[in-house]
Amino acid sequence: MHRICIVGAGITGALTAMMLKEKLQQISIIIFEKSKGTGGRMCTKRSPFGSSLDIGAQFITKTSDINHTQKRCYSELFQTGLLKPLQGTVEGLDVSSYSENYACSCGSGSIVKHFLQLAGCEILFDHKVTRINSSHNKLKLLCDNNSSHEFDTVILTIPVPQVLQLDGITSFIQNGELGKLKAVEYCSRFALSLFYKYNTNFFDNLSWTAKYISENPVLRFVSIDNLKRGKQHELPSVLIHTTKEFGKKNVDASLTSVLPVILESLENILPDMPKPSDMKVHKWRYSQVEKSYSGNPGCLVLSTFPVLICGGDGLSFSTFEGCILSAESIVKNFTENFVT
Ligand SMILES: Cc1cc2nc3c(=O)[nH]c(=O)nc-3n(C[C@H](O)[C@H](O)[C@H](O)COP(=O)(O)OP(=O)(O)OC[C@H]3O[C@@H](n4cnc5c(N)ncnc54)[C@H](O)[C@@H]3O)c2cc1C
Repeated sequence: MHRICIVGAGITGALTAMMLKEKLQQISIIIFEKSKGTGGRMCTKRSPFGSSLDIGAQFITKTSDINHTQKRCYSELFQTGLLKPLQGTVEGLDVSSYSENYACSCGSGSIVKHFLQLAGCEILFDHKVTRINSSHNKLKLLCDNNSSHEFDTVILTIPVPQVLQLDGITSFIQNGELGKLKAVEYCSRFALSLFYKYNTNFFDNLSWTAKYISENPVLRFVSIDNLKRGKQHELPSVLIHTTKEFGKKNVDASLTSVLPVILESLENILPDMPKPSDMKVHKWRYSQVEKSYSGNPGCLVLSTFPVLICGGDGLSFSTFEGCILSAESIVKNFTENFVT
């Protein structure tokens, strides 16, 4: 058995695991995830009142120029009902005649869970990889819980700056590649979740289910998350994203210090909004890719023996379709070049 470790249980890791399992029998895959759950930036949070809300990716935009693998991923999600046409009006959404927008009916995290289920591999949570080195033709990973593990192949599907933070990683990176990896840039944002334990018709009376806010230094996006997903009967939940400028300025600030600023800006925009029963603020230090790896190759092979590959949206695009391209490129490189 060829032992593969995928680092990161986000959408790229999930799709990579599923596609590898479909193509190859003589492999075992294990996924290491630093947090307590799957999804990464396609993450759905639950409230104490049973409602849920997407704090990262909001919409899936299906473009017209998609390949066979992307078509197949979409038809999976349409068949299972996990993707539904966007409900209501999204004010300020860039609507192109070459794209269609969809909402994840059970939250964006359910898409990642779906592909992980198809992959059927083991996931180790609370396993943050901190160090990587090679020894005797194997790759050795050290985690923050002090456990160490050996694999024939390691696939990193984490944001590029987090790849560069791994101890020992630079010994695998060629000089020219290091500069290109360091040039990959992500914006930062805060996400504020508001949960209600009661129903209120304030939200039903709005003319939109989500809206992009322009010309506000703090707020960029507001979504009535249950309505966006077509779940009128669920308790209301509201998601607010800050601007990337506010994110950049406050990237090292504490959550408690940014919260009052976000709430004040929200009150100016929606003064009559009822007070929530619970709220949570989250920092996306690595939110969406601003500048991806030169040429968008989908993945980068850092070592051929033992095999070390790095992928994810930093090497592609910060969309669901971009992550499919990255997973496809990882699997293509692995199967074509490294499996005899
Ligand atoms: C605010 C926001 C809004 C967005 N809006 C949209 C949208 O509307 N439509 C869209 O298509 N896309 C959107 N995106 C982008 C989309 O969410 C990402 O492109 C996609 O989720 C990236 O997936 P990934 O698997 O490559 O990386 P990630 O989702 O980041 O997954 C990486 C995983 O690796 C884990 N990890 C990191 N470091 C380690 C380590 N050292 N050891 C172990 N595990 C580790 C992380 O916890 C994470 O689970 C948005 C993103 C954000 C943040």
